Amino acid sequence: MRKLITFLCLLLCISGCSNIPTAQREHFAMDTLVTFKVSGPNAEAAIDAAIAEIDRLDALFSVGNPNSALSLLNAGADCTISDDTAALIDAAMDLCVATNRAFDCQLQPLIEAWGWYGDSPAIPTEEAIRDALQRKGYDMGGIAKGYAAGRVAALLQLRGIDSALVDLGGNIRALGCKPDGSDWVIGIDDPMGKSAYLGTVAVRDCAVVTSGINQRFFEQDGQRWHHILDPKTGWPAKNGLVQVSIVCADDTLADGLSTALFVMGAEEAISFWRSGVYDFAFILVTDEGSILVSEGLNFACNLPYEVIPQ
Ligand code: AMP
Ligand code: MG
Repeated sequence: MRKLITFLCLLLCISGCSNIPTAQREHFAMDTLVTFKVSGPNAEAAIDAAIAEIDRLDALFSVGNPNSALSLLNAGADCTISDDTAALIDAAMDLCVATNRAFDCQLQPLIEAWGWYGDSPAIPTEEAIRDALQRKGYDMGGIAKGYAAGRVAALLQLRGIDSALVDLGGNIRALGCKPDGSDWVIGIDDPMGKSAYLGTVAVRDCAVVTSGINQRFFEQDGQRWHHILDPKTGWPAKNGLVQVSIVCADDTLADGLSTALFVMGAEEAISFWRSGVYDFAFILVTDEGSILVSEGLNFACNLPYEVIPQ
């Protein structure tokens, strides 16, 4: 009899776990594919609301849209700034100062000179680079997806969702843990291309954001030219790093830091982390195939790369 009761309890528990409604969806916004995996009450309606929120923020922040708040600001138009636009500009400016301008949200003329707003980016002339570096215009491409991920996480939580994984093209937000109570396991891209992922990081309730040479690039003169620019030279950052992943409780910061640390290079990035100005963890991949991982991160490498704990 006791065995039967134990069996029935187990059955109830298993069916209870699998009864948590989970919804999955894909949506194209912010120039990237956004994917949702949401578990909890009214998961489909929660995704609808999250999509509406991402589209609303996309309309505010897109520099490709001449009517966005940022385009109007860049054009010097007299416009009212919404709370979201003000919050994003504040976060970006703080990061600019903290990173000694490795992260610079006013590179719009330079990004335009490299042709990243059109379909055929190409190497600009030295003169065009010099000219672009003397002008300023907002481009939040290095931080806006993180901000949107943070807003979506807050919105899902308000709707009673405590387990979700949202991926805005390399900007991942793990909300809570998996429905079975275990950590979310996030694949980290392999920039050397030996495999899709070089390893995994197990996390809960935080952002995992990756910046690297493989996300947007073009080939010219037999070389690959990526989209993360060094504000001091005007050229794509080239310092031995090929990829940076940041794990951080704050999505906006995680996104901005992934771009900033990529520009800094390994040595400066690690001393920036050691300075303790922000609380985050990192996975840096060098062009020699070494992986530098900050202490305390639950990272597992699947490939025969050298992992160097920091
Ligand atoms: P991410 O993929 O988050 O590293 O962001 C890269 C995007 O940020 C680029 O496509 C540009 O729009 C913008 N960007 C490029 N270089 C920088 C930089 N040094 N600081 C801030 N934003 C940048
Ligand atoms: Mg970024």
